[in-house]
Amino acid sequence: MTAQNRVTLSIIVPIFNEELVIPELYRRITGVMDEIGVSWEMVCINDGSRDRSAQMLADLNRADPRVKLVDFSRNFGHQLAITAGLDYADGDAVVIIDADLQDPPEVIAEMLARWREGYEVVYAVRADRQGESFFKVWTANAFYRLLRSITEVDIPLDAGDFRLMDRQVVLTMRSLRENHRFMRGLSSWVGYKQIGVEYQRAERYAGETKYPLRKMLRLTMDAITSFSYVPLRMATWFGFSLAAISLLGILVTVGLRLSGNSAFYGQATTLVAVLFLGGIQLIFLGILGEYLGRIYDDVKRRPLYIVAHTHGFERPDSPQE
Ligand code: UDP
Ligand code: MG
Repeated sequence: MTAQNRVTLSIIVPIFNEELVIPELYRRITGVMDEIGVSWEMVCINDGSRDRSAQMLADLNRADPRVKLVDFSRNFGHQLAITAGLDYADGDAVVIIDADLQDPPEVIAEMLARWREGYEVVYAVRADRQGESFFKVWTANAFYRLLRSITEVDIPLDAGDFRLMDRQVVLTMRSLRENHRFMRGLSSWVGYKQIGVEYQRAERYAGETKYPLRKMLRLTMDAITSFSYVPLRMATWFGFSLAAISLLGILVTVGLRLSGNSAFYGQATTLVAVLFLGGIQLIFLGILGEYLGRIYDDVKRRPLYIVAHTHGFERPDSPQE
């Protein structure tokens, strides 16, 4: 495809059971984009929705070919839906946005302005979260800070996946094919000229969150294992500390025995020590397993996602380029 008929902006929207939101999403996006006045496409990835989302998007594509649909064969998860979006998006710049309108499309205008100034990644920073539970805000805060403290990548605080990327960055992102991915981390890792813009995170327009605690924990583990060896190193630190304490314990015990003191004869002491050490060892085996499982998934080299149908792309069922 040549640069002449390439659109200026591709808007990537991952969709999982969002039938309540899709009409309003389309209305808001077209409103904002008509005002901005650049050519655009909306690349929707249906991530195995079980409601009418896919059908609604296919209908939208028939009425307005700027709306395009990549229909997954099943649910592969938010991060892989975004990955597919980057693979299929054709714009000179790409914006990733949530379907539920928590990321206000109006921010796109400011992102485009920053991009025209020469920034290659413009990430949106949440200045405020409305209508989200105290638990969600608190866990999100803890998550971003923990990640920052144990990784070497400079991942901006309180920035989600809502961001603009220049085509060059998108091409670089396409070359990263790991399975368990944390897209905002990768988008920091690739470098380039980056800047943040602040925005007010709105309430979900309709429906419920598609990120239950289980999925949030998995994303956290993916983020940590993708960018940090600290959990593995903890075993070494712990081993050294425990060995040092044990050495002290041996000296004390020998000393007590020689002086005829019977303070440490009990079996309970031994049992507690053995159980404690067993627990620690199992925890670190588990941590090793987390890394090993991810390595195994990458070694299998399965495709990251499977596309069942596409609507609106020139070369159906295969990513461009
Ligand atoms: N999503 C997805 N696949 C999933 C879960 C979520 O494509 O398995 C999409 C969802 O439709 C939405 C975005 O990811 O567009 C963010 O999800 P949600 O708004 O439910 O997450 P939250 O804002 O509550 O963290
Ligand atoms: Mg949301």
